Amino acid sequence: MTRQAENNRVDKTLRKLSLDKETPKGVFILLLLLFFFSVFLTTKISTSGDTTVLFGIPFETKSFTGIASMLGNICLICLAMLFRKTGYFTALILLVLQFPLMYVNIIIRKNYGNLPGLFNNLLIILAITFIYFGNKKILAYQNHIREQAVTDKLTGLPNRFACSELMQDLLKRMERFAIVSVDINDFKSINDTMGHDTGDLVLKAVAVRWKALANSLNTGTVDFVARSTGDEFLLIISGYNTLEDIEHTIACYRSELEKKFTIDDCDYYLSACFGYAVYPEDSDVIDNLFTFSDAVLHETKKKGSGSRVMRFTPEVFSTEVFLEIERKIRSALNEDKIFCHLQPQYDMDHRLRGFEALARMKDDNGKYISPADFIPVAEKTGLVDRIDMRVFEMAVQFIGDVINETGADITMSVNVSVRHLMKNNFIDDIRRILRKNNVSPSIIEIEITESIMIDSAEKALQRIDELKQLGLKVAIDDFGTGYSSLSYLNSFPTDMLKIDKSFIDNMSLNESSKQYVAMIISIGHTLDLKVISEGVESDDQVKILKSIGCDYIQGYVWGKPMPPEDASKLVVSRE
Ligand code: C2E
Ligand code: MG
Ligand code: MG
Repeated sequence: MTRQAENNRVDKTLRKLSLDKETPKGVFILLLLLFFFSVFLTTKISTSGDTTVLFGIPFETKSFTGIASMLGNICLICLAMLFRKTGYFTALILLVLQFPLMYVNIIIRKNYGNLPGLFNNLLIILAITFIYFGNKKILAYQNHIREQAVTDKLTGLPNRFACSELMQDLLKRMERFAIVSVDINDFKSINDTMGHDTGDLVLKAVAVRWKALANSLNTGTVDFVARSTGDEFLLIISGYNTLEDIEHTIACYRSELEKKFTIDDCDYYLSACFGYAVYPEDSDVIDNLFTFSDAVLHETKKKGSGSRVMRFTPEVFSTEVFLEIERKIRSALNEDKIFCHLQPQYDMDHRLRGFEALARMKDDNGKYISPADFIPVAEKTGLVDRIDMRVFEMAVQFIGDVINETGADITMSVNVSVRHLMKNNFIDDIRRILRKNNVSPSIIEIEITESIMIDSAEKALQRIDELKQLGLKVAIDDFGTGYSSLSYLNSFPTDMLKIDKSFIDNMSLNESSKQYVAMIISIGHTLDLKVISEGVESDDQVKILKSIGCDYIQGYVWGKPMPPEDASKLVVSRE
């Protein structure tokens, strides 16, 4: 097959998506046969002088003529309904063909018994004409809706659904293809600095350029360009000979993207990350191929800014490992085996400020699984809410008991994932647990990672406001890793910044890291926030943090995460 022919086939698949499913031709033939049978029957019995006995009652056979002709009418109406144009004109011809015969019978032979048949035919013509034009309108509307379902509104490119249909088609033909997930780098900064309208224009320009490249067939492969969501695009590459051809095609799209874009007199230079998976080598299940290409894209993005292309490898995203962890989380939740350890937080004079509750889980052999491994899986599978709630409940119960026993003035920090934070019943759950344990909201601090401020700012802001109204404290966790802007920080009603461990690690190694930490502390103080450094491991780091004005410390240097019994002893010993 030539490349042009293959490309036409891609177009055909797309067109097919926006077309209605047709009624099988066999039904058409069946209706025609039934119609001719009814005509034969009508003629036969209308001239019959016989008597038919039904249920013991004798009837003149010709009195059944109406029923036989009704059968023919129903066939014609079905033809017009099910086969639209072809059905309508076939029915029309069959009806009109009867007129000359009727003319001869009525006008020439003066056989007026044929008059009802004439009116019947005229009425059926009227009925099928109504059906035909009604159908036409509905069909146009349906086609419009279907087209919308497979098209991305902003760029006019096919959407993700269209992609999966095309993949299905290729899979049926057992043709090799690669699915490529693409994410434009730093697109958010265009939206933030130039506004969403300009962002939209940039996306449209990318779509036009890539569509033209796909149509030109200059890449040497058959390519299908689609927009997934936001600044994410999808490519399906088929018609290649070797796996190197895929990389070559991706390189073509990459270099086309990296050429200057001029929009409203401004120049933009774009780059993107590409992650791809190949059928059948990586998987023969469409859902998996989507997941793999998305996962590998995510992995390339994690490596930092810049343009990158990566192919899926099982190490990147091992389904088996993923499923195994998911199974362990489910069984731990069901068997109540999720628990928490508490890590102390201190002020700079080594006075206990409180604890951070950290989720812990053991596998069947009693071995610890790190939250760094199971929290991301729990987030993807929607189980994180249940983990968060378990930890929250245990932490609140612990602090309630400890304060009752010792009267200590301490706080409890709890991590909450974005997913959980955005849930509608989140605030109600928190309120319920606090009430149940008779714990004041003011000693509870919710830790939210910095990335929330960037990814879901609006809704997160609303939730944080609700938390604050309830009287809880809010801390921004892993601060410094997410590049959030100062304006965001200013608008978030938080109480505490937690400087990420990576900055603390480098602090004693180089002066610029120390200056960076000092700068975060001073920004925090300017915004009237407290600042805590996490992952502090050495006395040297404590000394530096003291000198640059940090408020609190959390780290192995003064205390590792510990079971609640030990934490409770620690509180008692400090009082
Ligand atoms: P995080 O909230 O930033 O928690 C701090 C992590 O740093 C903890 O790891 C803690 O054990 C570790 N850490 C503290 N001080 C030191 C130190 O001096 N040196 C070193 N090497 N590590 C230190 P952990 O417990 O493994 O938790 C990892 C991440 O898992 C947490 O990071 C948090 O993002 C997440 N996580 C933990 N528990 C929960 C939870 O209940 N819900 C949610 N949604 N996420 C949780
Ligand atoms: Mg935390
Ligand atoms: Mg942290």
